[in-house]
Amino acid sequence: MRARRRRRTATLLVAVAAIVSWSAPPAAATAADYRLRYVTGPDGVTRLARWNPCQTISFQVNVSLAGDTRAARRSAASDVRTAVARLSRRTGISFRYTGRTTYLPNGSRYHPWWEDSPAELVVAWVDQRDPAHRSNLLGRDSEGDWADGTGGFAFKSWNHGSGWQLAAGRGFVVINAADTWDLRPGFGRGLTRGELLLHELGHVMGLAHVPTRSQTMYPVLLPRAAAGYHAGDRAGLLAVGRAAGCISVPHDVWPGI
Ligand SMILES: [Zn+2]
Repeated sequence: MRARRRRRTATLLVAVAAIVSWSAPPAAATAADYRLRYVTGPDGVTRLARWNPCQTISFQVNVSLAGDTRAARRSAASDVRTAVARLSRRTGISFRYTGRTTYLPNGSRYHPWWEDSPAELVVAWVDQRDPAHRSNLLGRDSEGDWADGTGGFAFKSWNHGSGWQLAAGRGFVVINAADTWDLRPGFGRGLTRGELLLHELGHVMGLAHVPTRSQTMYPVLLPRAAAGYHAGDRAGLLAVGRAAGCISVPHDVWPGI
């Protein structure tokens, strides 16, 4: 038990920004305690990678591996909905829960994970030991172990004649079921599932890791007095949220789900 605990605090939470139409390494912004993802477009202009904050983002949950009982799975789904509600409050973005799914975000070179996603955002528990329930989106920590969770998004860029634009359009969170079963449910004291979900959802919105331990976007899951977004996290979510202005995304770039 003690070893597990020690290992947990060393486990990194890995961010993935999936790159759809062209490739550019994200560069970190230098704010005190939040960092955003930027990408350089085909025109050489660097833009913030973010969602259209004026859309409603649909989301579904795959909790089949989130617990051994119906009550445990219901509790996990409830934590996801609570975490998304907090994300919504901090970004000003509307989210719509459209139910449970058995879909597991997982992709290959020829079949990207976002192509058959049943919602704009899917939160799924995965098991890397089981070929039928593993995800190649779950990252590894610096020691090569599977991360407790990973969150990310896919973005596309387009130019319909008035210059290049960019928007995220699909997101995922995958949670490592085998290594997080003993996290405390909810958003209370200690190492909680709520804290992990808030962290990964921050990645979905475009937040990157920060070196500041007090923030939820710190790369290591730490015991907290209570799970929540802190001042830097909130500033970052504001910067990618509704206050940053709408992006008009053509239907053929990201069809709504
Ligand atoms: Zn992370």
